[in-house]
Amino acid sequence: MSDEKFDIPFKSPTLPTVLEPESKLKFNCHPGISCFNACCKMADITLAPYDILRLKKRLGMTSEEFLKAHTVPFPMDQDQVPGLKMRTTDEGACLFLDPEKGCTVYEDRPTVCRYYPLAMLTIREKGSSEPKRQYSLVKEAHCKGHEEDREVTVAEYREEQGCDEFDFYNEGWYELILKKKSAGPGVGKPNEMSLQLFFMASYNSDMFRRFVFSDKFRESYDIPEETYAQIEKDDVALLQFAYKFMRQALFGEKLVPEKPGAWEKRVEERKAIWEARTQAEIEARNRKVEEQMRAETSGEGETDTTPDPGDSECGSSCEG
Ligand code: SF4
Ligand code: SF4
Repeated sequence: MSDEKFDIPFKSPTLPTVLEPESKLKFNCHPGISCFNACCKMADITLAPYDILRLKKRLGMTSEEFLKAHTVPFPMDQDQVPGLKMRTTDEGACLFLDPEKGCTVYEDRPTVCRYYPLAMLTIREKGSSEPKRQYSLVKEAHCKGHEEDREVTVAEYREEQGCDEFDFYNEGWYELILKKKSAGPGVGKPNEMSLQLFFMASYNSDMFRRFVFSDKFRESYDIPEETYAQIEKDDVALLQFAYKFMRQALFGEKLVPEKPGAWEKRVEERKAIWEARTQAEIEARNRKVEEQMRAETSGEGETDTTPDPGDSECGSSCEG
């Protein structure tokens, strides 16, 4: 039994049976099938970071141009961790669907499109620190591929669809989300700056690159010049660095070496801001207590002074 899971999201009917790589499925999809393109006419595609790199490269766009033209943000959990879905037409069809030719970005289609009709789950079993992958079958009435006379194993289907490469480069991100889920609400809601960092490092590679090459970042982190040379031009290397940096900024793991004294310097710079923020919080609480006392003495009823759990912050330091 698993205690935590992160699935490549499908809102469609996912069968409860867990499939392993050797499990068999009866399925075939081909241009001659009666439902050809039916799935892409009702596309609900959640994007992972490597999906975005592939699509923006294919379209010759910057990450900012791609995000603006082809994505819609959505909250992935109750803490508003930002996710992205592919933009569709008003009728729900994928913008990359050509009615005659089918998918116009086929070689670079996102992970969710590759896996369909499988859903991939990353889980962490109780007592294990290593994440594990599992699969399940999605069966929708419009998809006639399940009626085709072809049997393949999950492993064969994944290979046929080129899932390995996408999973390999997205793995660090799935683990990050699983870690956030495993941490649970007890650690507090990530602050606004952490959520912005997550968005930038996950999806906006051009902006993240500018951030990493900024003077402020260089002053704070001890990154070897070879790493800088690599991530300057290589989006995939930058993405792998982004996963490490997010683990450090969001969960305090020491994966990106800091320059000696950088933390102290940052604390000094931020001290005034933190003090002002703390003072403002104290004053707000005092005001709340005063209001409650006034209400009680005038008999107006009760005011709840219980601290809002959403007030807490995880205390991460994501500034460069
Ligand atoms: S990217 Fe291609 S496969 Fe995926 S929903 Fe769009 S048209 Fe269909
Ligand atoms: S068989 Fe299923 S996956 Fe293939 S085109 Fe039809 S609806 Fe889409």
